[in-house]
Amino acid sequence: MLSPASSLSHLPGVGPAIAQKLGYLGLETASDLLYYLPRTWEDLTHLTPISGLQADGSKYTIRAVLTTFSAFRTPHKRMMLTQGVLSDGTGSITVVWFNQPYLRTTLKKGAEYYLTGRVEKNAKGLTLVSPSLEPALASGEERTPLHSGRIVPVYPESLGVTTKIFRRLIKVLLPTIRAIPDYLPDGIRQKYQLVDLATALEGIHFPASLELLQSAKDRLGFDELLLTQLAVQSVKRFLKQESARPIAADVELVKQILAKLPFTLTNGQKRALWELLQDLADGKPTNRLLQGDVGSGKTILAAIIMIQAAKQGFQSALMAPTEVLARQHYLSVAPLLKEFGVNCALRTQAYQEGSDTANAFIGTHALIQSTVKFKNLNLVIIDEQHRFGVKQREALKTKGHTPHFISLTATPIPRSLALTAFGDLDISVIPHKPLNRKPILTQALEPDQRQLAYKRMMSELESGHQVFVITPLIETSAKLSAKSAEAEYKNIQKLFPHFTVGLLHGRLTSEQKTNVMADFKAGKLQILVATTVIEVGIDIPNATVMLIEGAERFGLSQLHQLRGRVGRSDLQSYCFIAPSEANPEIMERLGMFSKTDDGFKLAELDLQLRGPGALFGHSQSGFLRYRLADWTDTRAIKQAQDAANAILDEDATLEKYPELARRIDLETITAHSE
Ligand code: ADP
Ligand code: MG
Repeated sequence: MLSPASSLSHLPGVGPAIAQKLGYLGLETASDLLYYLPRTWEDLTHLTPISGLQADGSKYTIRAVLTTFSAFRTPHKRMMLTQGVLSDGTGSITVVWFNQPYLRTTLKKGAEYYLTGRVEKNAKGLTLVSPSLEPALASGEERTPLHSGRIVPVYPESLGVTTKIFRRLIKVLLPTIRAIPDYLPDGIRQKYQLVDLATALEGIHFPASLELLQSAKDRLGFDELLLTQLAVQSVKRFLKQESARPIAADVELVKQILAKLPFTLTNGQKRALWELLQDLADGKPTNRLLQGDVGSGKTILAAIIMIQAAKQGFQSALMAPTEVLARQHYLSVAPLLKEFGVNCALRTQAYQEGSDTANAFIGTHALIQSTVKFKNLNLVIIDEQHRFGVKQREALKTKGHTPHFISLTATPIPRSLALTAFGDLDISVIPHKPLNRKPILTQALEPDQRQLAYKRMMSELESGHQVFVITPLIETSAKLSAKSAEAEYKNIQKLFPHFTVGLLHGRLTSEQKTNVMADFKAGKLQILVATTVIEVGIDIPNATVMLIEGAERFGLSQLHQLRGRVGRSDLQSYCFIAPSEANPEIMERLGMFSKTDDGFKLAELDLQLRGPGALFGHSQSGFLRYRLADWTDTRAIKQAQDAANAILDEDATLEKYPELARRIDLETITAHSE
C-alpha cells in the first residue's frame, strides 16, 4: 500500500537511476513529491477537429486515429523519420516525428491517440510536427490522458528528470493525497474560504478546471504566507514576554555627543535615533531594523547608543559582515567613543586591539561566538544581517536577560516584506541622505560604449579622484569571480598605465583585503578593481566614479548599494553600468536603474520582477522562497497575519497543531542566521 511516507524507490517505474536523481533533488518520499509543485500549467483541454487545424504557430490538441505510418532514414543526413496519417472524421493530416526511433515499435496502426503539437504548412499541405502523443484507450477502455486533453502541469526539470516523468509519478501518488493530514484549523479554512489540503494538492497537479487550479493556488499560497506569519508572530510574542534591562534615554549625554560632531543630524536621523532611544528604554528586548540608504548615516547612530549603553555600565557589540568593514567601523567609531571615556576593542581574526574588559566591542559577525567573555552585554548591533534566530539570542543572554538587538541595513524593505519576512521586527527608516550629497549621474552603457566610462574615469583620475571598477558577480563560484576580477585588473592596468590599480576579491586573505582597502583609502591606489566584497559600507569620499561590469547579473537594489560607494562627499560622482550582454529586456531594467535614485522604488521593482532573492543577494535568500504566494499582495499578507494571530491567540505553542509547528520549523526563517 502506498502512503505519503512511502519511499519513492518502491514506486512502479522508479528504477535506481531515477530514485538517485530524485534523491539529489531532495525528493525521497511520496509526500516530498506531492509537494514538488508545477512551475506553470498548460491548458490543453480544448480538442480541435482536424478540419480546424491551422499553421498559425499555436499548439493544438487533437484526438485522432493513426491510419497508417512508416519509419525510415533520410538519404543524406541519416535522420530517422517517422511519418503517418491521422484522421478524426472531420479530416486527416500528416504527422511527422524526427529521430524518435522507439516510435517504430510503440506506435500502433489503427489506434486512437491524443496528440499535442504545432502545425506546419508546405507544398503538400498541413503537417502536425513532432507532437506529444498518448493512447486514448487502455485495453479498449477510455483512459484519462496525462500529457494532453487536460490542464497539464509543467514541472521544473532537473538532472534529466523530465516533466513527463514527474507527471507520471505524481499521478501514481495521487491516491495517497487523502492520507495527508490537513494542518490548517477548520475555522481558518472556512473563514478564508479555502479548499482542504488534499483538494488543493490534487488541484495543483492535475486540475480538472481553471477554477479548481485557482482555488488550489489560493489555498497553498495562503499556507506559505501563513507559515511565515506564524513564525514571525510567535517570535514577536516570545519577545514580548522576555524582559530586558532598559538602557535609559540620557538626553543630556546625547546632546553632548551631537555637539562634538562636525555635522548636524538630518531630520531622518533624529527621528530614527529617538525611536531607538525609546525602544531601548522600555524594558522589553529591542528587535529593530534600522534601514537607511548607504551613506545615510546609520553608523553614527550606532555609536551614540553604544556610548549611552557604556555610560550606564553595559557592554555593547557592533558587528560587520567582513573584517574590512569591522576595521573601518573601528577606525571611525572608536575615536568618538574614546572622547566620552568609553573603551573600545576590535576583535577580528586578523586584528585584536583594546582590552577584553572594554565596554564596546567591534568585530565581524563571529564576535558573538568568539572568545570574548561578555560580562554585561546588553546591546548587539549587526550590520547587514537582517534577522536574529532565537538561538542566537539565547546564546547571548546574560544573567537571564536578553540583550537588545538592532540590525543596520542599507537594503530598503518594501512594505510587503516588512509585513512578511520582517514581521517580527520593528523598523526605523532614515529616508534621506545628508543634504550636501549630489545625485550620482548614472548611465547604462551598450556593450560598445565603454569608452564613455573610460573617458570619465581618466578625467576624474586626473583631477585627483578615485575610481571603483566592479566585476561580475558569479554566484556559484568564488573562484570564477576572482578570475574575472583578475582579468579586469589586467585590462584596467593596460588602459590606465599612469595610475596605480588595486585588486580586491573574496579569495584574498583577510589581511590582504585589509591592506588593499587601507591603501585605497589612503590614496596610494587610484583605481580599485573589486568583486562585491566591497558591496556594503566602505566609505571612500574621494571616489567619484564607479564602473559596474556584468551589471545584468545584479538586482537593482544591489546595484544601488554598489553605486552608494561613490557620491559620499560633495563632489559630483558618476556611475556607469555595463552589461556583458545587452538584450532589450536587460537594457530596459538597467535604464530604470539609471533613471531613479530612490532605493525604495528600486526595491519594489526588484520584488516585483525577481522576488526578494534579488534584494538580498544569493546568500540570504534561502528563507525567502514562495512558490505560489505573491510577495507584493499586501491584502493577502494581512489576512495571513490575522489568521496567524487568531491561531496563536487560541494556542500560543501550537500544541493542538503539531503538523503546523513542524512545518514552521521546516520552512522558517531562522535557518540562515544560525
Ligand atoms: P551608512 O552606515 O548609513 O552607510 P555612514 O554612517 O557610514 O553611512 O555615513 C556616511 C558618511 O556620512 C560618514 O562619513 C558620516 O560621518 C557622514 N555623516 C553621517 N551623518 C551625517 C550628516 N547628518 N551630515 C553629514 N555627514 C554625515
Ligand atoms: Mg525595547
